Amino acid sequence: MVKAKIRKQVKQRANGRCEDCGRRILPNETITGHLNHVRDKNYTNPGNLVNRCLLCETEYHLKYSNDPQEIGLTKKHNDATILGHFKRLAEEEQTYLVDRYALLLEGVFKRLNLTDSFGII
Ligand SMILES: [Zn+2]
Repeated sequence: MVKAKIRKQVKQRANGRCEDCGRRILPNETITGHLNHVRDKNYTNPGNLVNRCLLCETEYHLKYSNDPQEIGLTKKHNDATILGHFKRLAEEEQTYLVDRYALLLEGVFKRLNLTDSFGII
C-alpha cells in the first residue's frame, strides 16, 4: 500500500495527466501504479510509481501477462489485477479495449479456472 503522502507527490508530479499516454485524467480516475512490484525498500519510492489512467494501468499489466515475474508479480496476482481492471472497464463500457484483448483475457480466465462471470468477453 502506498501512503497518501507519496501518492499525492506522484499526482502532483503528473500534473493531472496520465504519465504513460499524457491524457488528462480526473483525480478519481487516477491509479498510482508500480513499475516494479517487488516489496523491497524501493516499492513505495516515487521513482517506482506512475500516475496512470485505468487504460494504461491495464495495458501495463497485460503487457507482462506472460512474464509477470519481470515486474515482480506472480502470474496469479497479475491475472487477478488484470481481471479487476477489466471488470471496471466493462462497467465503464470501454468495450473497445475488451475487444482488443479478448484473446488474452480468455487465457487469463483459463489460468484462473474462471468462467467469464463478469460477462466481459
Ligand atoms: Zn494513460
